[in-house]
Amino acid sequence: MDLLNTLVDKGLRRELPTREEALAVLATSDDDLLDVVAAAGKVRRHWFGRRVKLNYLVNLKSGLCPEDCSYCSQRLGSKADILKYTWLKPDEASQAAAAGLAGGAKRVCLVASGRGPTDRDVDRVSETIKAIKDQNEGVEVCACLGLLSDGQADRLREAGADAYNHNLNTSEGTYGDITTTHTYADRVDTVQKAHAAGLSACSGLIAGMGETDEDLVDVVYSLRELDPDSVPVNFLIPFEGTPLAKEWNLTPQRCLRILAMVRFVCPDVEVRIAGGREVHLRTMQPLALHLANSIFLGDYLTSEGQAGKADLEMIADAGFEVEGAGQVTLPEHRTGEAGGCGSHAGTGCGPGADAGCGSHAEAGCGSHEGGGVCGTASASPATATPADEPRTDLVAVRRRGAGTDLAPNA
Ligand code: SF4
Repeated sequence: MDLLNTLVDKGLRRELPTREEALAVLATSDDDLLDVVAAAGKVRRHWFGRRVKLNYLVNLKSGLCPEDCSYCSQRLGSKADILKYTWLKPDEASQAAAAGLAGGAKRVCLVASGRGPTDRDVDRVSETIKAIKDQNEGVEVCACLGLLSDGQADRLREAGADAYNHNLNTSEGTYGDITTTHTYADRVDTVQKAHAAGLSACSGLIAGMGETDEDLVDVVYSLRELDPDSVPVNFLIPFEGTPLAKEWNLTPQRCLRILAMVRFVCPDVEVRIAGGREVHLRTMQPLALHLANSIFLGDYLTSEGQAGKADLEMIADAGFEVEGAGQVTLPEHRTGEAGGCGSHAGTGCGPGADAGCGSHAEAGCGSHEGGGVCGTASASPATATPADEPRTDLVAVRRRGAGTDLAPNA
């Protein structure tokens, strides 16, 4: 298939596909799906082998957010029956992190709800980072605290943070339909601040919010421009009690096409399957490992994931291996001499991109189905196809781990 051969060649050369090629991936038919996965899988293996990086979320502060992100169970006015609590103490957060690290994670993602941190909040998180780093040699810590003010990224870097997550979530053109209390430009600014401070930028998207194929391609190209080291791909979990509760638009096949498109556009970047993995990929999760090289272990911010043990078994059964603490995630050209999480040194995902918890998207932090034949650059208006029945039975609000007396899932 000419399209796929072209995309593999470009992926191995870190060359940006055309928008038409990216759209054509989203428009492939189910008959072509395995060919799409195999092609994007070649690109994934070229840059990341069969390694799967495990990340572990610690929700430092849950709910009660003054922002109005429509997808988020922690938003202003959310009726979702989630855990609500204020800042975990450093030792509480460290204990939660330790469970994830014992389960095989190499990165801990410290997430707090809210528009952005105060300077006092940065102090708190700095203490937490220190506690985690003191007790766990070699651990990578990513902070995800919302919009950053001047100087805060530098302070987090000085405190030992390796990375900062802030997702773009959706295209610039549709951002105002999803959130009104801050702008797309605000989000871009924070990712740039993280970069400038020497933090490894993590920035991604949420699929399934009613966006078009063009919107998805827009946001992924914008991410490539921003050049994050990691790109979390969230699939909307339509929480009851949020404005997007009825947006059940995703199918496992659609999720696989989206992940393949992201891999082709950002070939040498950590592509992470984030929130909604179990809900939308369901039994097709193992196929997605051929596209993404990173997942979250265990639970999400406000929803429960499958058992951490099941994550590990899936990885082994699919013929992949958990990335060890001593292994560098990113290809050498992206890490430069800084090593570790990457120095943004490379040209990899083009002029700049990354994603993560920034939007607290996971648990809050979801789509459409293209028709057509692989190879036809169908840029026709993508129509949301209600191809999936609501699977509210698969959405479980988190009731264990951080902020509770119960052991975390890791
Ligand atoms: S995504 Fe973050 S900023 Fe937006 S409502 Fe949720 S917690 Fe608040």
